[in-house]
Amino acid sequence: MNRAFSAGLPAAVMAFVYLLPLVGSAASPGPAEFLPPSPLVRPEDLPYPGKLRLEVDSSDIARRIVHVHEFLTGVVGDLTLFYPQWLPGTHAPEGPIDRFAGLRISADGAAVPWKRDPVDVFAFHVHPPAGVAMLDIEFDYLSATSDKVGPIEMSPELLMLEWNSVVLYPGGYYARQIPVEASLTLPAGWKFGSALEVRSTVGAKTLFEPVSLETLIDSPVYAGKYSSRLDLDPGSSVPVHLNLFADRPALLEVKSAELERYRNLVKQAYRLFGSHHYAHYDFLYSLSDKIQQSGLEHQQSSEDGGDPEAFTDWDKLSADRDLLPHEYTHSWNGKFRRPADLWVASYELPMRDDLLWVYEGQTEYWGQILATRAGLWTRDQMLDQLALSAAFYEHEAGRSWRSLSDTTNDEIINPRRPESWPDWQRFEDYYGEGELVWLEADTLIRELSRGRRSLDDFARLFFGIDDGSTTIVTYMRADVIAALNTVQPYDWAAFFDARLDAAGVPAPLAGIERGGYRLIYGDKPNEFQTARDADRKRVSLLYSIGVDVDDKDGTILLVMWQSPAFKAKLIEGAQIMAVNGVAYSAEDLREAVAFSKGTTQPIELIVKSGDRFSVVDLDYHDGLRIPHLERNAAVPDRLTEILAPRK
Ligand SMILES: [Zn+2]
Repeated sequence: MNRAFSAGLPAAVMAFVYLLPLVGSAASPGPAEFLPPSPLVRPEDLPYPGKLRLEVDSSDIARRIVHVHEFLTGVVGDLTLFYPQWLPGTHAPEGPIDRFAGLRISADGAAVPWKRDPVDVFAFHVHPPAGVAMLDIEFDYLSATSDKVGPIEMSPELLMLEWNSVVLYPGGYYARQIPVEASLTLPAGWKFGSALEVRSTVGAKTLFEPVSLETLIDSPVYAGKYSSRLDLDPGSSVPVHLNLFADRPALLEVKSAELERYRNLVKQAYRLFGSHHYAHYDFLYSLSDKIQQSGLEHQQSSEDGGDPEAFTDWDKLSADRDLLPHEYTHSWNGKFRRPADLWVASYELPMRDDLLWVYEGQTEYWGQILATRAGLWTRDQMLDQLALSAAFYEHEAGRSWRSLSDTTNDEIINPRRPESWPDWQRFEDYYGEGELVWLEADTLIRELSRGRRSLDDFARLFFGIDDGSTTIVTYMRADVIAALNTVQPYDWAAFFDARLDAAGVPAPLAGIERGGYRLIYGDKPNEFQTARDADRKRVSLLYSIGVDVDDKDGTILLVMWQSPAFKAKLIEGAQIMAVNGVAYSAEDLREAVAFSKGTTQPIELIVKSGDRFSVVDLDYHDGLRIPHLERNAAVPDRLTEILAPRK
């Protein structure tokens, strides 16, 4: 229970709450709680008295087995070894302990027994014989052999290596206090990219300069048979590189116009933040449909996975072209400046995600704005993207019971597994709805200051401190509010309380309105939705009949809560076999919805669910409702100002 909750309870209720356990313990039958003392030590901010030599062999691409050999010095008596559990960037206890095998520990050639902690299954207790100062530790990381096991990280052409998967570290010390000397063996002839500095390379084995465990885990390696390295900030003493790894060499071809857009991204980020917090920065960008397409931020690099044809088919609008701008923004927002309760001294300690509406919400905002300012998206594409996002939150039923703040727990509740009725549950809304809240703050600052100040000033004030420093600076909610008040005095505490902490509040669309636009629905195509539907091979009719449908076979992929489809008892997985008596086609379904406008006849579907067929009448008469932003000439066009590149 937090303070806010207990403060709201009447005194009589509080007295009852306090009394209840006393009454209960005297009278209740059954066993007493068994609580053995925790053998886990809390980490201290002291230098680890030895070092960790970590040898990783990831050359077994065929079997996707990564062999790890560690030499840990500085051992004095009993210790606990941890496999990283709470991972930065995923904000959740997602360390892949289920892919960890073959642990053997020895000292001076003799086996040393280990015992896993029965509560924290990521912890291994070790009792070395007296006088042992170094442990020899071996294990295998079994990278997923199918996507049922986990994300695919290795292919015959490419591998992604996150060091947290291949390290056991000694407990009792802050991660930044444990020195690691890491080496990596790759398949012969492969090239790699990483924020780590190389000390030496012998054949396929690379030895990196020693770093702390914290820096190591924040510095993954991408490697591959086909790669290229492009300079995004030529002539700078703080280099930024785009490292590409692809399934085929032809996919690596980047035209100069596109390279220029990514160079603009770096320029526009510097104009926004006025600082950098890395010695150099490396985008690790995989162009592959064989390995996982991920996005994961680090302070001096990022993991970016995209459409294999992201460069070779540039004219196809890519909905995820804000990926690199998003992950790059995290170097400032999330990595350098981090919520105090999300930063952890060591990876066995739980993270708290309540400030993700800043960490992810404002990164979503700057990521999309920087994508537009850099020319990766056009202004109109960005407006179409905003319309889609706003429409979703306007229709999302779950907001009636669940606050936006509460969704920040979702990384822990459900780390992106599929779920039933997602818009009734809500999910990671602190990204997209967080973005709309920040748009509201930005337009409000612009309005109140008569165009003299904006959220750009907040970005510079909050993230632009300590230029050149890589040392993390943490913050609390009050610090965000204080910085906003420095930019523009306003009751920002109440502003965020109202939008974040209450359930049942309408979607935050005031930023769009104060930006000079209105969210409308009609039959005009939304370029973004058309591109996304083509990409995901589906028909999106969420705001009309309330479904997303597989465009080829009519399988229902999503049903919006309380939509006409919901009321007709359609569910995800059912298949639309016929529309108004004619065999299903995506075109016919779209047309039937379009022609429903003003009619009194229902749309008749024949639906197959399991082995049952049924005729379903959709009582719907409003035509296509595709979201759009329409210009409102009565309000200054602040959205266009926000999206224009900074000079
Ligand atoms: Zn993010």
